[in-house]
Amino acid sequence: ALVVRHRMKSSGKWTRTMAILREFEGKCATPISKLRQVADAMTVEMHAGLASEGGSKLKMIISYVDNLPTGDEAGLFYALDLGGTNFRVLRVQLGGKDTRVVKQEFEEVSIPPHLMIGTSDALFDFIAAALAKFVAEEGEGFHPAPGRQRELGFTFSFPVRQQSIASGSLIKWTKGFSIEDTVGQDVVGELTKAMERIGLDMRVAALVNDTIGTLAGGKYYNQDVIAAVILGTGTNAAYVERAQAIPKWHGLLPKSGEMVINMEWGNFRSSHLPLTEYDQALDVESLNPGEQIFEKIISGMYLGDIVRRVLCKMAEEAAFFGDTVPPKLKIPFILRTPDMSAMHHDTSPDLRVVGSKLKDILEIPNTSLKMRKVVVDLCDIVALRGARLSAAGIFGILKKLGRDTVREGEKQRSVIALDGGLYEHYTKFSTCMESTLKELLGAEVTANILIEHSNDGSGIGAALLAASHSQYLEES
Ligand code: BGC
Ligand code: MG
Repeated sequence: ALVVRHRMKSSGKWTRTMAILREFEGKCATPISKLRQVADAMTVEMHAGLASEGGSKLKMIISYVDNLPTGDEAGLFYALDLGGTNFRVLRVQLGGKDTRVVKQEFEEVSIPPHLMIGTSDALFDFIAAALAKFVAEEGEGFHPAPGRQRELGFTFSFPVRQQSIASGSLIKWTKGFSIEDTVGQDVVGELTKAMERIGLDMRVAALVNDTIGTLAGGKYYNQDVIAAVILGTGTNAAYVERAQAIPKWHGLLPKSGEMVINMEWGNFRSSHLPLTEYDQALDVESLNPGEQIFEKIISGMYLGDIVRRVLCKMAEEAAFFGDTVPPKLKIPFILRTPDMSAMHHDTSPDLRVVGSKLKDILEIPNTSLKMRKVVVDLCDIVALRGARLSAAGIFGILKKLGRDTVREGEKQRSVIALDGGLYEHYTKFSTCMESTLKELLGAEVTANILIEHSNDGSGIGAALLAASHSQYLEES
């Protein structure tokens, strides 16, 4: 068959492109009224998830952390942080109340992509090997207690059904990991077996989600920390709940009266979420269709790909990039969120950065300034939707805790520990998230709420929790 593509007139190209852009913008809209609905839906789901196992899309996982760090933790501890494209190993010498962190060292190792979709043994062997190498390099300033096994806090940033502070089975993978035979397994067991295979003598004393680690790390430095939020490759939140407000908890009432909850808010969904055809297509084609819908419109793994999908539509239906669709534009995840961020923050008058990203990544040469502006607008729409929705999520938590109002005569400070690459490096995202939260809370309440960057707090947090759950700790 003979396919003839007619050259679209330039004016037609622009009309259609702008129509696609405006329609997308409309569907992504997050007016404050909508954000309030999202926050309310979040609190409703929080209650449901706390009421019964499987009661909500929000798993509201009981972390078995009922005491957060105090500063008294002492000794040499290790941490391992697995959750994104990199994993980190860390060792810290804790000196107790006055000296606190005496010395710490860490190393970051990137995970070969094939291991993210291979076998459980291959992944855990790789991790154990890197850890063993790191332990072997333990040098001056670190003091293992003679005759004692080294202990580790394991930050594992995926949904895990905890069985105890140091065990839990993987519910499902997220963020591009997909290893069938780990699902349902105790990940501490998987790691322990791998450590045994390589001859590393180490005990996992605490298994924590990165949100829990960040909360613990944040609390160590600031006792007003009540919640932690990760905005990175994935997204999630954890907070301190009253044990009595957790109907599904049938264990003993902890002495503290509190329990830290891993919300797994990435899996939140609601009819109030502004979802578009592009989000639907991204979800259907993802490794975990139907899951992590909130995450897929907020987090770093996906934002760049949403932009790519809209550009692709513009290329196909409005000949935005000329008569043919640039082949690279068809490759999922080729446009990464850091590149999107670089384009979005381009302040040069001719949008030079946008031009070179389009050229280098998508092999689209010679873009006009007008075209580059469309790309920036697109980044703006996608990033700000995510930022505003994450603010709504935080507002939902504060509402659940009754910290969204100022009580008469009370000066209750609430600090939220934030971490993750998106928060840390995507300035327009974090600025918008914070200003939206302010808008939702109003000036008076905002004065009592503080967002604090907890830089890689999850590693140190896991080490602290390993310390407070050490096998050598005397029960008092
Ligand atoms: C995982 C969470 C994690 C979050 C941030 C999500 O994909 O399900 O467990 O806390 O990413 O790393
Ligand atoms: Mg960091």
